[in-house]
Amino acid sequence: MRLLIMGAPGAGKGTQAARIAATFELPAISTGAIFRANVANETPLGLEVQRLLAAGELVPDEVTEAIVADRLAEPDCQNGWLLDGFPRTKHQVAALDRVLANRGEELDAVVSLTVDPERLVERLLHRAEVEQRADDNEETIRNRMYHYNLDTEPLLAIYRERGQLIEIDGDGSVDEVFARIESVLSPLR
Ligand code: AMP
Repeated sequence: MRLLIMGAPGAGKGTQAARIAATFELPAISTGAIFRANVANETPLGLEVQRLLAAGELVPDEVTEAIVADRLAEPDCQNGWLLDGFPRTKHQVAALDRVLANRGEELDAVVSLTVDPERLVERLLHRAEVEQRADDNEETIRNRMYHYNLDTEPLLAIYRERGQLIEIDGDGSVDEVFARIESVLSPLR
């Protein structure tokens, strides 16, 4: 299966991506995690994107798209994958379309996690305490929400129009939300 998981910051994408990946035996590819690992290791890419991540700004499309294209070309992605946090802009949607078209592949589904906006900030501030993520402070959260609403939320309409969007209620425990996702993805297997 070739899947995307989308949702506002704090909607639980990363957590659910890990569950989906384990259950459906897919590599979960998180662009955010790739960037954070590069920042931690102080690679040239990490040094380039560090300031953007800390500010809650998006990394430039070309940089992000090249990383995803390279990652999807790895052998473990041959039979399927789950992208978490990509695409985030219309430009990235077009880039992913090209990668898929070149390989003669199609997306099977786009899982969108919906969570009450009030709960999102609460969850992010909680995560900031637990995971100590540098970009979970209030100012950065506000900026990430801004970019989600401006750049990423409109992408849902594209996938809805293509008949690929599956909207999942992201309120509830991790197990409850995963059960909802599993019940819609299992028939696609
Ligand atoms: P995430 O872990 O998905 O919340 O991503 C953390 C941060 O990484 C974001 O706030 C952006 O700075 C950067 N990032 C992750 N994915 C993308 C993307 N597809 N396009 C641009 N920037 C991204």
